[in-house]
Amino acid sequence: MIGQIVRVLFAFGANLGDRGETIRAAQRELAAAPGIREFAASPLRETVALTADGPDPEAPRYLNGVATAETSLPPHELLDLAQRIEAEHGRVRGARWGNRTLDIDLILYGGRVVRDERLTVPHPRAHERDFVLAPWLDLEPEAVLMGHGRVAALLARVGDTTRPFAETGHAQG
Ligand code: ATP
Ligand code: MG
Ligand code: MG
Repeated sequence: MIGQIVRVLFAFGANLGDRGETIRAAQRELAAAPGIREFAASPLRETVALTADGPDPEAPRYLNGVATAETSLPPHELLDLAQRIEAEHGRVRGARWGNRTLDIDLILYGGRVVRDERLTVPHPRAHERDFVLAPWLDLEPEAVLMGHGRVAALLARVGDTTRPFAETGHAQG
């Protein structure tokens, strides 16, 4: 399997600090990491926080986005890299789905299924999250989520509560 190039999808979220700057910086770091190429990021969207008790309009809002890339890294090395970048951006692990400066999840790793104590891919909740599906659709209108079908149909089913977010000082696209 060494040397094999796999297409991957990451999802990003932040609801503390300078959310957009953090996500864009993390994406630049991922894009520049050894073993990652062809990195392409979606526009960012703003969403109401999803907490363990459901959507919380009182909590700081999230910015969310996704990115595709090609990688020669094995899935757990990709998770290590993502968690290193989260930590560098001040991610503190508190309550489940609590406020955070940066979340990077691995949504897809090629067509592979991974299920162990550290990593579940495809991400088990991606299909029901508008904040993953909507930016993904922005990036790839024909996208299909392995095991669940077309992203456009999934988003129509869950309903899109996300809002486009106008970034300052960033080229869109
Ligand atoms: P959710 O997975 O529902 O989006 P979360 O992103 O808030 O929740 P974290 O606190 O970021 O959860 O991560 C908890 C653990 O999830 C991590 O320590 C990691 O080992 C594990 N994990 C399992 N599958 C994945 C995945 N596909 N991407 C990222 N982390 C994963
Ligand atoms: Mg997450
Ligand atoms: Mg996470």
